[in-house]
Amino acid sequence: MGGLTAPAPRGACPDLLSPMASGDGFLLRVKPPVGGLSATQIAAIAAGARKGGNGIVEITGRGNLQLRGFSEATAAAFAEAMLKLDLAVPEAPAERVRNILVAPLAGDDPAAAPEAEAIARAIEAGLRGRRTLWSLPAKFGFAIDAGGRLPLGDAMVDIRLMPAVDGWLVGGSGLSRAVHVAARDAAATALRLAEACVRLWEMRADDANRLRHLAARDEAGFWRAAGIGPTVPAVTPGATTACRFGPTSYDNGVGTYALAAPFGATSADALEAMAAMMLDFGIPSLTIGPWRSLHLRGMPEHALSAVAMAAKPLGLIGDPEDPRLRVAACAGAPACTAGSVPARRDAGAIAASLAPGGTRIHIAGCAKGCASARPADLTLVGHEGRYALVRAGRAGDPPAETGLDLDAAIRRVAALTGPRA
Ligand code: SF4
Repeated sequence: MGGLTAPAPRGACPDLLSPMASGDGFLLRVKPPVGGLSATQIAAIAAGARKGGNGIVEITGRGNLQLRGFSEATAAAFAEAMLKLDLAVPEAPAERVRNILVAPLAGDDPAAAPEAEAIARAIEAGLRGRRTLWSLPAKFGFAIDAGGRLPLGDAMVDIRLMPAVDGWLVGGSGLSRAVHVAARDAAATALRLAEACVRLWEMRADDANRLRHLAARDEAGFWRAAGIGPTVPAVTPGATTACRFGPTSYDNGVGTYALAAPFGATSADALEAMAAMMLDFGIPSLTIGPWRSLHLRGMPEHALSAVAMAAKPLGLIGDPEDPRLRVAACAGAPACTAGSVPARRDAGAIAASLAPGGTRIHIAGCAKGCASARPADLTLVGHEGRYALVRAGRAGDPPAETGLDLDAAIRRVAALTGPRA
């Protein structure tokens, strides 16, 4: 049986200045600044999502907030308000390529590399200042790891920077080699690699638009185009790095608390309450990790248990054993016109049927599989109003079963993950 057909790529990646039409109006993304969002910024995002959109706030795997249900006019007004709060750069092409995923505890965890945020800011400035980079593909991204208590793992990006002994490693997706540089040269090296990508894509127009495509075609040619000789084998980060939800103490009187929104979506009301909580507890910033995780940072250690209590009524998850953390789901129908099943609405019932254990489930409204690019143990994919079941694969892989209604899907998941304790 062949895989289900994913909808044609829309060729667009929404951001604050380029909203994208969807089934429930325009959706747009706010890309948090390096160092995270303040309570003031979060409160403004929440107010704008409620006033101009439909109040749904999604947390993306690239560390952004995605807001839904805007009209063209309310999206423009919201963008204006966000620009005043420095939540985007005003040049639309620069904002489009400002895709920088920073380890969420960089700048907070004393065990993390101290230069990580400065490197991220230098890359951000380079992306804004060098017009040649504005023609990077919208999905092209950078990741800055910082080691410490919560490394980034193998977040799916193009250019990756990792702290190493006496410097930093700069490499990228699909490259077998990397370059070891001093911290002060790390951002410039990463930008040179991005410029090499632009040059190579300009020389050969095709639909290969990620660094891994260039690496697979001719890695030596890529390094030549960058004018850099790679010096060390690439270090493949552990794929198994998982977010540690709940409290973490730094043992110095300061701590951090990681929360998740069920199936990656929360509300403007919850976001606003979180901003108030940050002010109450003296929490200076919130960052977003690639696990769709919300990291309240820099809080007094004595406030950790009070934060746990305050977060519960907001519907946010801080218990690492919560089965919903093992389920990824997109919005699905009707919010997304490509979806044929209400993936996120069904996710609650499916998560409730999960037996304890490590089985990871992906529920996709269609074969595009936006909620998870990685294979899952079980993937339920919407197709003509019913679910297809893919085992150990991605949403677009050939399904083992088709035509399941929700009840049948729940029964199959329960049977395949074992009886509930
Ligand atoms: S996977 Fe979900 S969000 Fe992505 S296009 Fe399909 S229905 Fe829409």
